[in-house]
Amino acid sequence: MSGSKLIQVLLPLRLEWEPFYSYSEDSMPSPLLEGDRVRVEFAGKEYVGTVTVPDASADAAGIGLERIKPIAGLAEGLDRISHEEISLWRQVAEYYLCTPGEVYKAAYPAGKVEEEGVKSRIRERLQQRIAKLDEKIAKSRREETRARYVAEREELMRQVAGPSTPLRDQKEEILRSAQNDRTGTSAGSGRDGIELSPAQEEAYSKIKEVLKAGKPALLRGVTGSGKTEIYLKLAAETLAGGKNVLYMVPEIALSRQLEERIRNHFPNELQVFHSGMTVAKRAESAAFIKTSPYIALGTRSSLFLPHRNIGLIIVDEENDPSYKQDNPAPRYNGRETAIMLAGIHGADIILGSATPSLESLYNCQVGRFGLIDLTARYFHASDSDVEIIDTIAERKKNGMIGSFSRKLIDRIRECLAKGGQVAILRERRSYSPMLQCEGCGHIPKCSRCDVALSLHLREDGQGRLVCHYCGKVYEYTGRCPECGGELKPLGAGTQKIEEEAASLFPEARIARLDSDSARSGKHESEIIKGFEAGEIDILVGTRIVAKGFDFSGLSLVAVLRSDSLLAQQDYRADERALHLLEQFRGRCGRRAEKGLFVVQTSQPDHPVYKSLTGVQDATMVTDRLLKERKLFGYPPYSRVINTILRDRNIQRIELMGRSLSTLLAGTLGRGAKVIGPYSPAVDKTAGENIRIIRVMLPKDKNLRSSKAALQETAERFARERKYSGHISLDVDPV
Ligand code: ADP
Ligand code: ZN
Repeated sequence: MSGSKLIQVLLPLRLEWEPFYSYSEDSMPSPLLEGDRVRVEFAGKEYVGTVTVPDASADAAGIGLERIKPIAGLAEGLDRISHEEISLWRQVAEYYLCTPGEVYKAAYPAGKVEEEGVKSRIRERLQQRIAKLDEKIAKSRREETRARYVAEREELMRQVAGPSTPLRDQKEEILRSAQNDRTGTSAGSGRDGIELSPAQEEAYSKIKEVLKAGKPALLRGVTGSGKTEIYLKLAAETLAGGKNVLYMVPEIALSRQLEERIRNHFPNELQVFHSGMTVAKRAESAAFIKTSPYIALGTRSSLFLPHRNIGLIIVDEENDPSYKQDNPAPRYNGRETAIMLAGIHGADIILGSATPSLESLYNCQVGRFGLIDLTARYFHASDSDVEIIDTIAERKKNGMIGSFSRKLIDRIRECLAKGGQVAILRERRSYSPMLQCEGCGHIPKCSRCDVALSLHLREDGQGRLVCHYCGKVYEYTGRCPECGGELKPLGAGTQKIEEEAASLFPEARIARLDSDSARSGKHESEIIKGFEAGEIDILVGTRIVAKGFDFSGLSLVAVLRSDSLLAQQDYRADERALHLLEQFRGRCGRRAEKGLFVVQTSQPDHPVYKSLTGVQDATMVTDRLLKERKLFGYPPYSRVINTILRDRNIQRIELMGRSLSTLLAGTLGRGAKVIGPYSPAVDKTAGENIRIIRVMLPKDKNLRSSKAALQETAERFARERKYSGHISLDVDPV
């Protein structure tokens, strides 16, 4: 067997090793290289794997060569994966305690590969039919029959040739059009005249200093200070220098305005990526960035595009929890992963936010990042005024009408009378987030998830009960299923508030923006456009309304039942609430006129509001929060890793949870804290019970080995106890 070569292949699976395969050099046009895609069989199934070691040695395999399977073939039509991509997968896997195969699977989701796979299977079948026809043609005596077979064969040949090369065609097409585009306009020049204000200019040169020192730059700038302008200037320079740009945002649906701004500067280079894209569109964009200068705008998953030659990564709204992927693995944070990617490419990286995460501020304190402040707004608007309204006190004075205080109603009337626009934030969607029986006190809950059901009203006024965790829908009769008593709504969601607003402000044009109303992306962008164009006076919504919009007519923003933001059982609740409130406040008064921010709460003395009203400034608040974290040993002073158990059997999960917790405490040694197993706020979803063991590891020189020990212990436990529930690890959970 001369010319038989041994390779190692990474499979898109939760597999801790990379299996060995062989191929005969004679059967290949050229030897396989790192990143080549091959079809291989593993445990009875065929996968498209990536060659990680193209010349493995038999010694390393450690098993008899006769037991090593040959590959099934090359995965035709799939591009080679770069060394940089594989390096990123390995780093992500190591940090987030998963396997490189799981990252590979996320980077190249099955849809894309499957489509190719189906095509090749179809082709195989066609070829078999053609072979059969060839036999028949050879045997047939009658001219007519023969002619029919020949015609059939030609048709099959067309089918084989036809759909088998669409990707390649598309790529050439794109290449051609990109080249046409570029003749005339010079790539990467951007719009002339990004003229920075003096304050922006100063921030810009500080950023350059930090980047030159090889550190990530953290730009803290109030909304409207011109962070985006600075990013665009840096992007233009990067493209002019022949390198590419990755511009990350937490959610793409909310960045339509940003997209237009970037397109104005870089019409030929912009490529937008999001998870809702069709496979074909995604392939097309991916092909573009493989061949042309680009600025890629996308969410966290855009980190796993086939990037090359990146010179700059921008992480906008870096504190946003949407950067974290909860499920499935890899449970990565886009911000941290962006830093890894920048490292691999030797690229500059800038993180920006009006309210940076405590993690990033901590990284500045210890000198790992450089902090740059930008305090002046470009249009010199001052911060909007803040008015905190105590709903308990108001209720006693008969000052509440439903969810609205009379004070707020007056403010809204004044604002509308002056032709201004209003945005109202309420964290809970639905008509009513919870119902209770007046007779027996029963609260209807989801049978699968054990959470209270929300009442949603359809346009015809018919109600239905919905579980917000699993989406299951239940019939609503208005009667208690236990005693037949009347079900009463507890609290108001966005739908109810929209209804209340309609009766309080009958002349106003009112719209709602939440994940119910925004189910179709089209509808959502229509509402946003309508608000921009001044066709809507009052916009009611969930936190979507607090995010990234730039509405010049918005002069009053109000939060109803702000308490629900603070009530979460989480050490980050205050930080989160503050970020959301600051972000929402930044939405109004973006032009010259001063805006007003109204908060209705039953806890007016909460420290979070002190910071909003300016009793404490941002640095004081950060310092206080960091001190608290240090005192309790929370991140960023430790690393939290959640060990999550999921199991249909409640007795078994309790038992297994306790013994795994004991085992971890014994293995991880002093300094590590092992808490639980405890039940999270929602401890059952879709029929599976959930328990969490929280591990806090000190950030010392043993961190890496402790993390590895934790992973190893959990795996060994599952194996040895033959645990049929599911155990997963979540590093830096949000
Ligand atoms: P941020 O990203 O910090 O919220 P933006 O970059 O969106 O701030 O700036 C706010 C507004 O001010 C935008 O409408 C932007 O076009 C304008 N702006 C900011 N800086 C400049 C500048 N240097 N030249 C022209 N317009 C600017
Ligand atoms: Zn449910």
